[in-house]
Amino acid sequence: MVTGSTSGIGLGIARELARAGATIVLNGFGDPTAIEATRSAIAGEFGVTVAFEAADLTKPAEIDMLARRCKAAFGSIDILVNNAGIQHVASIEDFPVEKWDAVIALNLSAVFHGMKAVLPGMKRRGWGRIINIASAHGLVASAHKIAYVAAKHGVVGATKVAAIECANDGITVNAICPGWVLTPLVQAQIEARAAANGTSVSAESNALLAEKQPMLAFTTPEKIGQFAAFLCSEAGSTMTGAALSIDGGWVAQ
Ligand code: NAD
Repeated sequence: MVTGSTSGIGLGIARELARAGATIVLNGFGDPTAIEATRSAIAGEFGVTVAFEAADLTKPAEIDMLARRCKAAFGSIDILVNNAGIQHVASIEDFPVEKWDAVIALNLSAVFHGMKAVLPGMKRRGWGRIINIASAHGLVASAHKIAYVAAKHGVVGATKVAAIECANDGITVNAICPGWVLTPLVQAQIEARAAANGTSVSAESNALLAEKQPMLAFTTPEKIGQFAAFLCSEAGSTMTGAALSIDGGWVAQ
């Protein structure tokens, strides 16, 4: 079950878990025809069952329903990737309260609700993998991202609590902390900067990287997906409670 997997990092993770042989449940927003094309392309390419569930994860009741529908269809959720997330960029004094509430609901509270929904089954079966997609912003801050940075620091903390609670249940819980990944979420920030500064998208793209990452290259959704697949493998079975950076050196500074 990969939340927010109709686009970007979540889609990259869904593809790599499908490549490794997992049955996949996609989730997220988007054009139904495009989502169906994505769903059937992954199923065809990797020969696994791929389903789609359109739950809005800002609503706890829909997360609960999503988990129940997955269990009814497939018997269990063995791997949960809490990936769905949004961003809003503004100074604290200009930050709309409704944007704060929306970012916290999706980027932080949905992680809690998702883990709460899957843990009883994972404990019963004695095996589970939970991967929470945090961010470099789960470890360090940037100006104008109050809700996102607060939520992602919260995700890292929630990951540690869950890992400790499940340490001897065959379940690992980790946070992946990416630096810049060129997805629609980041593309929107680059385009907003280009519009505000009267510069080009490619100039702002280079500037965005140079401000934060010693390595001046975007990580790809595919690489995050391969990292997630590793965490689900036997080799990752004693890694738990970790905030794992894949960020071109961002938090090394
Ligand atoms: P994206 O905008 O490409 O994808 C976000 C996904 O979440 C989409 O599938 C969207 O439909 C879904 N979504 C949005 N609101 C939803 C809701 N209410 N309910 C269910 N699904 C919803 O973004 P992305 O860049 O791929 O980001 C994915 C995750 O990675 C986020 O948690 C983000 O914070 C994190 N992240 C991204 C970067 C980056 O550079 N792109 C870096 C670090 C962390």
